[in-house]
Amino acid sequence: SHPYHTVTVAGGGVLGSQIAYQIARFGFDTIQYDISEETIDAAKKRVESYIPLVVRDVDADPDEARAAADRITYTANMEEAFSHTDLVIEAVPETMAIKKQFYNDIQRYLPEHTVLLTNSSTLAPSAFMHETGRPEKFLALHFVNHIWLKNTGEVMKTELTDDEVFKDVQSFTDAMGMMVISLYKEQPGYILNTLFIPFLRGAIQLLATGVATPRDIDLAWKVGRNIPYGPCQAIDRVGIRTLYNIYLAHYANTSLEADEKALALLERLEKAGELGQETGMGLYEY
Ligand code: NAD
Repeated sequence: SHPYHTVTVAGGGVLGSQIAYQIARFGFDTIQYDISEETIDAAKKRVESYIPLVVRDVDADPDEARAAADRITYTANMEEAFSHTDLVIEAVPETMAIKKQFYNDIQRYLPEHTVLLTNSSTLAPSAFMHETGRPEKFLALHFVNHIWLKNTGEVMKTELTDDEVFKDVQSFTDAMGMMVISLYKEQPGYILNTLFIPFLRGAIQLLATGVATPRDIDLAWKVGRNIPYGPCQAIDRVGIRTLYNIYLAHYANTSLEADEKALALLERLEKAGELGQETGMGLYEY
C-alpha cells in the first residue's frame, strides 16, 4: 500500500503526457502541469492521441479510456499544481539547469509530506537531489516510451532516499499498472539501457569493421537466441541520430579502432539522412 491519492505530473511532453494518462487510467487524481497555455494544449492533444492506442494495444475499454482522459486536470499555475499534491513526477526537459530551477521553484508550494520522482533518463538523481530540499523523499521512477505497452517502471534509490518512501513508490508503481523494477543503487542507464546500449554498440562495431551484413548480424541473434528482432533492426527503430549521440557521449574516447569506425559509420549515415525506420532508410530500406 502507499499514501498517494493526488499525483502531479510536471512536463506534458512525450513522456509526461503518457505518464499523466496512465495514472488517470488507474484511478488517481491526476494534475498535468506545464509552463504555458500553448504547452498545455499540446499535452492535451497528446493525451487524446493515446486513447485509440490503449484500446488497440492493451484492450482498454473505449468508454473508460475516454473517461480517463477527461479526468486529468491541466494547469500552468504552480500553486494549483503543487500545493495539494501527494506525489510529483517530474518529466521536464533533460537539462540539468532546467531541472534544478524546477525543484527550487516548486519548494515554496509543496506540502511537507509530498514525495518527488524524476523520470530523467541520463542525469543522476543525486546530481540535483539537494535542490529538492527533501532528498529523503526524492528518487527516480523511469519509464519507457509507449508506457502503456512497454510498462516497466524502474524505481531507483539514491543514497539518501528513505526506505519507507522507496517501498511506497514501489507499491504506487504497481498500482499505476507498471511492472516494478527495483534498483537499490544509482545506475546510469538504469537496467534496461545498461544492457541494451552495449548490445547496439556490438552490432554497429560488427558492421563498421566489415565483419558482417545487417541481415546476418540480425539472423545470428534472432535464430540463435530465438528472439523476434535483431540489433540492426533495433538500431533503425531507436534511430541513427540517437545512437550517434549516445556514442559521442560514451564511446568517443575509448581509443578502440572498432569504436572509431563505428562513429565514422554513424556520422556518415547521419549526414546522408539515413536515420532509420522513420526516414524509410537506415541500416535497412523500408
Ligand atoms: P519533451 O521535450 O517532450 O517534454 C518536456 C516538457 O516539459 C514540454 O512539454 C515542456 O513544455 C515542459 N517544460 C519545460 N520547462 C518546464 C518547466 N520548468 N516546468 C514544467 N514543464 C516544463 O521531453 P520528454 O521526452 O517528455 O522527456 C522528459 C523527461 O523524461 C526527460 O528527463 C527525459 O530524459 C525523460 N524520458 C524521456 C523518454 C523518451 O523516450 N522521450 C523516456 C524516458 C524518460
